[in-house]
Amino acid sequence: MHPVFLPFLSGGRPMSHPLHAEITEVGPRDGFQAERAFIPTARKIEFIDRLIDAGVPRIEATSFVSPRAVPQLADAEEVMRGVDRSRGAVLAALVPNKRGALRAAEAGVDEMVVFMSASESHNRKNVNREIEESLAGFEEVARVAGEAGTPLHGAISTAFGCPFEGDVPAARVGEIAGRFRQLGFAGVSLGDTTGMATPPLVAAAVAAVREAAPGLGLGLHFHNTRGIGLANVMAGIELGVDRYESSFGGIGGCPFAPKATGNVCTEDLVYLLEEMGIGTGIDLRKLSGIACDVEATVGHELPGQIMKAGLRLDLHPMDSVRAAEG
Ligand code: ZN
Repeated sequence: MHPVFLPFLSGGRPMSHPLHAEITEVGPRDGFQAERAFIPTARKIEFIDRLIDAGVPRIEATSFVSPRAVPQLADAEEVMRGVDRSRGAVLAALVPNKRGALRAAEAGVDEMVVFMSASESHNRKNVNREIEESLAGFEEVARVAGEAGTPLHGAISTAFGCPFEGDVPAARVGEIAGRFRQLGFAGVSLGDTTGMATPPLVAAAVAAVREAAPGLGLGLHFHNTRGIGLANVMAGIELGVDRYESSFGGIGGCPFAPKATGNVCTEDLVYLLEEMGIGTGIDLRKLSGIACDVEATVGHELPGQIMKAGLRLDLHPMDSVRAAEG
């Protein structure tokens, strides 16, 4: 496999891309959370076990938010208890506050993730707090995580644009990442909550975070709302970013963008990276099988494309296709 170079964002200077990328599968949290009908706990556990078996190194398994706020994930403790933890995949979970962090620590999650928005109005809508209030709350969470010895990550929603405010300055995203670093976080992920990212905005945000929070782990979480999720991944790859979050089958969505497709699809992302010679350690056939079963479980079509089309060298018998007539 030959490495490719994409000089379109670097002013013509070829930059080498990473040789390996770490994928975080967020389907069991970000995807399932958007499903109205309750997915049985045993099915959730089965899907996570199969993801681990397929080689997915990091999984956002659930969320320790209030069961009243997100009934779909009210079984967070049971899910954590049920998953086979012997094979070393990192199981991360969302925690909204100190209470959630205590529950997550008790359940033995490998990593905790706190979340906030880069725009005041989305943060208000999503977690009913001002940005400063969110950051103050994270100090308490950081103490709980520190006492439990659990690495803490911060997710920044609307990092590339806000559906209520429009453009979000890259400097503000950098500033928040800098605060995360001061609080001792292990990493930050930039979320494109309603699919407003474009390659130049990705470049600006990545540069701002690197400047304001040197050494902080950096991941990118794109949605395919406007069809350029993987183009944004390519922008990240060219900038040397090697952590991406995605969901099986592309499951997920945002309540503020009705009918919009959700997260970048993990199978499509793995397909792209592996074809570029960027290792993921993930078995794509197993992953496609999981996505098909997730689709059957939720009972509606998922936007993933590899799960439908197969791999590019999956050949078809000639007589399986009807010849053109006339
Ligand atoms: Zn998402």
